[in-house]
Amino acid sequence: MATWDLVVVGGGPGGYSAAARAAELGLKVACVEREARLGGVCLREGCIPTKALLDSSELFARASGGGLEAHGIRVGKVTLNLQALLARQAEVVEGLTGDLAKLLARRGVEVIHGEAHLAGPGTVAVARGQAKPLALEARAVLLATGSEPVIPVVLPLDGTRVVDSTGALAFPRVPRRLGIVGGGYIGLELGSAWARLGAEVTVLEALPRIAAGLDGQVARTLARSLTAQGLALRVKTRVAGARATARGVRVTVEAEGETEELAFDRLLVAVGRRPRTGGLGLAEAGVALDPATGRVRVDQAYQTSAPGVYAVGDLVDGPMLAHKASAEGLAVSELLAGRTAEVDYDAIPSVVYTDPEVAGVGWTEEGLKARGAAYVAGVFPFAGTGRARCLGETMGFAKVLCHRRSGRLLGAHLIGPRASELIAEAALAVARGATAAELVATVHAHPTLAEAFWEACRVAEGDR
Ligand code: FAD
Ligand code: NAD
Repeated sequence: MATWDLVVVGGGPGGYSAAARAAELGLKVACVEREARLGGVCLREGCIPTKALLDSSELFARASGGGLEAHGIRVGKVTLNLQALLARQAEVVEGLTGDLAKLLARRGVEVIHGEAHLAGPGTVAVARGQAKPLALEARAVLLATGSEPVIPVVLPLDGTRVVDSTGALAFPRVPRRLGIVGGGYIGLELGSAWARLGAEVTVLEALPRIAAGLDGQVARTLARSLTAQGLALRVKTRVAGARATARGVRVTVEAEGETEELAFDRLLVAVGRRPRTGGLGLAEAGVALDPATGRVRVDQAYQTSAPGVYAVGDLVDGPMLAHKASAEGLAVSELLAGRTAEVDYDAIPSVVYTDPEVAGVGWTEEGLKARGAAYVAGVFPFAGTGRARCLGETMGFAKVLCHRRSGRLLGAHLIGPRASELIAEAALAVARGATAAELVATVHAHPTLAEAFWEACRVAEGDR
């Protein structure tokens, strides 16, 4: 039996970050991944392929009448080669998963492809199809098996008409009418991408608003903008069932006490994700789950209720985001190597890659109000910056929320061009406890989009 300092189960952002860092710190590490390619949901079917699809569809929308004329650029007839677009998406994924395999090999991590489960204290069993199963003996085991989509029993997938996010990454043709169950991250991102490519998109959301976790002012602006782009957003509309037919999907929805039947060509089910805990032998190993969420319970050092077994990423509490998973994976490796590490859960940014992009970090205004916190808000429109005018992308605003007495930045919410990049400064400010006055005193380059954030800090500081 081979002996390891650390056996990581799962090669996604949580697992590969932990494995690479632990090996760098001198530990003998194996990483078990059941799929042929490393990278987890994030690289294979999540963050990366969705962003490749979004970026390509944005170029298509721009070229086919989405604002180039205003720059004095006239293009001829624009046509879409969906197969080429999807081939490029696959190439991006292939390139990154290949690079990751090389990185782990360079660090000396042994990658084992197979399905792992806990098989007694310090032992991980790996089933490898036709090949001989392995038993790995480990000083520490890190579970990083991620999450899988929630598929309600009333919405069975058929893999063609009714699909999950993986199915909706690569439709063979642009659907004429695409229905989406769930107005969360996945519904809005994939809905935006297919709408730009020409689909008639209807988002069906049970709650009174889309993107329920976002700052309310930002969510309202996003809803207006998506509606202007042609997406039909139906809120307070619960999907109660779906039936695939030879020609499409019949969907039963309940809205305002009425039941209605809608017809689509394809239906994407995007109603959330749940931790992937099945088949890992958790109960037998004494790894406790949170009964309310089904997530693996861990202490501050990411150790589960079974000594020597750790867990990170989508499997444990917190936002299901790739950078949160990697931060935890890195922290576990530092701790196992006898160093200190802590993840700052108050400053984890989140991004929705719609157009305009939405990004946030820290408290929302609704959260502060519910807490009865004394705060000031500063809001500044991107239209007020020279750079947004030059780009011709003036939609949206930067909003900061500061502690009234100290001026400390408690939260920041951006909706507008390149919000995904601009949020890094706000995340640093929230993480380091910077004040609006300190941000105002920091010289920002001109003309940049970041000036909107700086101006929002000025507004907040002026109102304190
Ligand atoms: P995963 O990435 O799920 O990796 C777990 C790995 O474990 C998988 O490779 C799996 O095959 C393997 N595994 C499972 N069980 C076993 C077993 N028994 N033995 C061996 N291997 C096993 N997050 C962002 O931050 N930004 C985004 O833009 C973003 N976009 C997304 C888009 C979509 C469509 C989806 C679905 C998700 C998106 N996410 C995004 C979320 C992000 O993908 C996850 O938060 C992240 O992948 C979690 O990382 P993880 O390491 O916990 O798990
Ligand atoms: P989500 O939790 O973001 O949204 C699901 C939505 O579905 C909710 O608004 C919910 O009210 C609604 N819903 C549930 N049942 C319904 C029903 N029967 N009828 C109508 N609406 C219903 O979940 P998601 O969009 O599936 O995404 C899963 C997770 O993946 C996200 O929470 C996020 O952590 C991650 N993700 C992140 C990104 C990113 O960071 N850019 C992108 C995609 C996914």
